[in-house]
Amino acid sequence: MYTALGCGVDVGRVIAIANQKGGVGKTTTAVNLAVALAQIGRRILLIDLDPQGNATSGLACTDEIRDSLNSGKTIYEALIGGGSLAEVTHQVRPNLFLAGAGADLVGAEIEMATMAGRERRLRALLYGVREEYNYVLIDTPPSLGLLTLNALVAADTVLIPMQCEYYALEGLSALLGTIKRVKEQLRPALEIEGLVLTMFDSRNRLSHEISREVREHFPDKIFKSIIPRNVRLSESPSHGLSVIEYEGKSAGADGYRELAAEILSRDLAAAQLMSAQVESAQSANEESHK
Ligand code: ATP
Ligand code: MG
Repeated sequence: MYTALGCGVDVGRVIAIANQKGGVGKTTTAVNLAVALAQIGRRILLIDLDPQGNATSGLACTDEIRDSLNSGKTIYEALIGGGSLAEVTHQVRPNLFLAGAGADLVGAEIEMATMAGRERRLRALLYGVREEYNYVLIDTPPSLGLLTLNALVAADTVLIPMQCEYYALEGLSALLGTIKRVKEQLRPALEIEGLVLTMFDSRNRLSHEISREVREHFPDKIFKSIIPRNVRLSESPSHGLSVIEYEGKSAGADGYRELAAEILSRDLAAAQLMSAQVESAQSANEESHK
């Protein structure tokens, strides 16, 4: 059990990275946040729930891991084939584990459609496993289909990357509506982790306008850390590396290290608050027994 923060606030915390808009930086965020948190010493499981398998190819750096994935050791086997998560989990870095995706995941949505408890299959796989990690990050496809639904039902929180482009807010209401429905019907504890602005270009007026607009709409939900548009971020996946490994001194690497630190410091604050509440409840209890 990993209780680095004392109160267990960062033990087995499951974060789905979702936005049904395509190309907004979900996978880039999943991969780089995972590496940044792992490098701080947190034990991380990254689940690639996107049939495109971009997070998988972005991290699976050895032939051995690629061969294992090609032989079917992917999240599909666990979701549909009845295998366990451990069987399809590969260690890809120190502290970082990957349950990868292959093209076979395309069929999973259709195959799951008729299965009992189809929205809860990923949640069931994580049962008894999540506590082995500090954070479980789930990369999702650009749709609100059954795979994304499985990620939301398995998650404690949703992290929403928003690209600083026209129509950034378009489609957000559909995502928020889905989160609300999941919360009401399937996963009452689901919360929004936060919105993170991606591909921010400080020389571009539009980036500033989008940032202002998102801040106005969601003042408590937006992360302080902003991910800049940075060419190193788009180059690193073709080397099977995160930007932190590929060009650790880049603005993109700084952005994701800051985001990781912001999540950890929020969790630390939550852990401190929780332990203060426990202490005051204990002393009130002791007083009442005097
Ligand atoms: P999809 O919806 O297809 O899964 P996505 O939301 O996962 O896409 P990414 O694949 O992370 O989005 O990013 C889309 C493209 O933009 C990729 O080519 C990626 O390398 C590039 N990219 C992502 N973030 C940045 C950034 N901050 N600066 C420059 N390029 C970026
Ligand atoms: Mg993606």
